[in-house]
Amino acid sequence: MNRPKVPQRLRALVERPRPKPQESPQAAPAPAPENKELQAQRDRLLEKFTVMQADLGGAFYEMAIRDHVRLDVLTRKAAELQRVDAELLAVERLLELERLDAAGLCGRCGSPYGAADRFCPQCGNSLVPVEVAA
Ligand SMILES: [Zn+2]
Repeated sequence: MNRPKVPQRLRALVERPRPKPQESPQAAPAPAPENKELQAQRDRLLEKFTVMQADLGGAFYEMAIRDHVRLDVLTRKAAELQRVDAELLAVERLLELERLDAAGLCGRCGSPYGAADRFCPQCGNSLVPVEVAA
């Protein structure tokens, strides 16, 4: 049985804590131009998240040293932070699909796969019914 050829782009997945089918010594490919918009959005959200997280920590610190913690304010800030975090996750997921030109997600492990893939690049799950020779 032949192993499916893994496209170069899939190596971007190496960052993720998943078992990978093979190692490649080559450098990561440059991001495709169509990802720039999403990447910019991801960067904006990431920066926003970082700022808001620092703001939440700072607000709590200020309240704590004055012995006047306002939980309603902190809870509201935390809820905003959570919303940005969810947005960020959604964009990262989209970015991942874009990067891979994914045709869909593996039914077994949920990894994105490309239109030409016949097996899941992560778990090897068969993505199309095996053709039976007539
Ligand atoms: Zn899979």
